[in-house]
Amino acid sequence: MRTKKDYIKGLSKMKRNIYFDGQLIDRTDELQMDCLNTIGLTYDEAEKPENQELCTAISHLTGERINRFTHIHQNKEDLHRKQDMTRMLCQKVGGCIQRCMGIDASNAVYNVSYEADKMNNGATQYHENFKKWLTRFQKEDLIGCCAQTDVKGDRMLRPAEQPNPDAYVHIKERLKDGIVVSGCKVHISEASVADEVLVVPTRALRRDDKDYAVAFAVPGDWDGLKQVVTIHNLRPREHFKRGMVQGATDSYMIFEDCFVPWDRVFLAGENLLGGAMALLFALFHRHSYSGCKPAIGDLMLGTAALAAEANNIHKESHVREKLAELIMITELGYAAGYTASDLGKPELYVPGHGFVPFGPGSYIPHSIYCNVGRCLTGEAVFREAEILCDISGGVTATFPHEKDFLNPDTGDLLLKYTRRNKEMPVEDQAQLWRFLGDGLCSATGGIAKIGSYHGGGSPIMEQIAITTQYDIESRKKLVRFIAGMSGGDREALSKNLKPTK
Ligand SMILES: Cc1cc2nc3c(=O)[nH]c(=O)nc-3n(C[C@H](O)[C@H](O)[C@H](O)COP(=O)(O)OP(=O)(O)OC[C@H]3O[C@@H](n4cnc5c(N)ncnc54)[C@H](O)[C@@H]3O)c2cc1C
Repeated sequence: MRTKKDYIKGLSKMKRNIYFDGQLIDRTDELQMDCLNTIGLTYDEAEKPENQELCTAISHLTGERINRFTHIHQNKEDLHRKQDMTRMLCQKVGGCIQRCMGIDASNAVYNVSYEADKMNNGATQYHENFKKWLTRFQKEDLIGCCAQTDVKGDRMLRPAEQPNPDAYVHIKERLKDGIVVSGCKVHISEASVADEVLVVPTRALRRDDKDYAVAFAVPGDWDGLKQVVTIHNLRPREHFKRGMVQGATDSYMIFEDCFVPWDRVFLAGENLLGGAMALLFALFHRHSYSGCKPAIGDLMLGTAALAAEANNIHKESHVREKLAELIMITELGYAAGYTASDLGKPELYVPGHGFVPFGPGSYIPHSIYCNVGRCLTGEAVFREAEILCDISGGVTATFPHEKDFLNPDTGDLLLKYTRRNKEMPVEDQAQLWRFLGDGLCSATGGIAKIGSYHGGGSPIMEQIAITTQYDIESRKKLVRFIAGMSGGDREALSKNLKPTK
């Protein structure tokens, strides 16, 4: 396994293809360091003997110990550990750990490439291609990002109907030695600090859309790929430092007549499986949310409780209600992910067929619980912010900048007027309002909320998944019987109704 130092050294050797605010920048540019330090923790923590079980795994391909972020889930325990590792690491960095996209996309491609070869009766070797790629990914302990979301153009038109054919990444040409792709993937987290980019389709696809059913992996600095990055750093602090500074980046990834050799292609034209890959990445990613969102809930709760203490209102009943609400959102999200892990199987829910065996035997978390957990916690982010805003008051919005606390003309006066609860040192009260301002009032805090709401799929996507998969009909029959209506199902009373049909 690599160290954080090896990871950063590897990035420093990559070609420059990252644009930020009009400039071409290096991957190790100072601006990206907060993000590199955030991901770096996944290497540091995996080295610790006490974290071996949680942060590392044994590769089913090589039998070697690998970082869990490169692992294919072999059983329920692996799903539980991914969830717990994610929660633990996100708590430690104080936000998104930035490494789950690679593991989630790898698990999706691993399963779908296998099914595609099976469907093609051995005419393709996507799965072997992927296993070769995965072996190197694991051995070299690489960082992968997942480029799924296309620019999508007119939302009411399907890919093949778009006036701009590049509105979705697609195969432009098929050559003897590979394919040529064009299009643009957007909002791709950590792409500017990733070694490898896994590209997967973004939606269900019809036969006409088959050129859009494409999955492949290329290094982040591949020829024909340009990245335009937005870097989300908190306002730098010179004097009153934070204990940990989390950073993040998101890229527009522009593929211009980009050649991809066949051994890096994992799907090329199988429209039904393109849709399955889109759904499966989303599913694994929604499961990851059941680790990261509870960690963010942990931070929200700690912040709200401290803000209440700073204001000396912590014994008030309205505060208790709000703290309970934060805990309920957090732990329901965690419980949904836990159940999704526990009911995990090498099976996928296929509308009209129910759960069917899928892939070569690796574990897929239960769809209903992944979607329920992500939707519940994703939609709650603005309510959580409202609770923090309510408990802390207006101070987070207008708290003076740090140098005003160092200026002899204003410093002591500001401390005097910052003091609220005499039991809490005033310097701590000041640090807390600075921290709260970072989360509630900064551009970075706003971006994190939009990411929490839309990342992994907007709530509407989870609602569609939940309502199309849930067995609503059996519940109707149950009520019909109990209410004495026609068409009731007496049997339903003795059945243990399952979530899915
Ligand atoms: C910070 C951040 C990080 C992200 N990281 C990644 C990443 O690493 N990888 C990745 O692939 N993606 C990433 N995403 C993208 C994320 O998955 C998408 O934002 C999400 O899927 C929503 O897509 P969209 O932004 O195109 O919004 P849209 O899909 O355009 O949604 C906007 C509105 O339009 C509605 N709508 C859209 N289409 C239809 C339709 N056909 N019919 C009716 N209503 C419709 C939606 O319901 C919604 O209300 C990230 C996003 C953010 C904000």
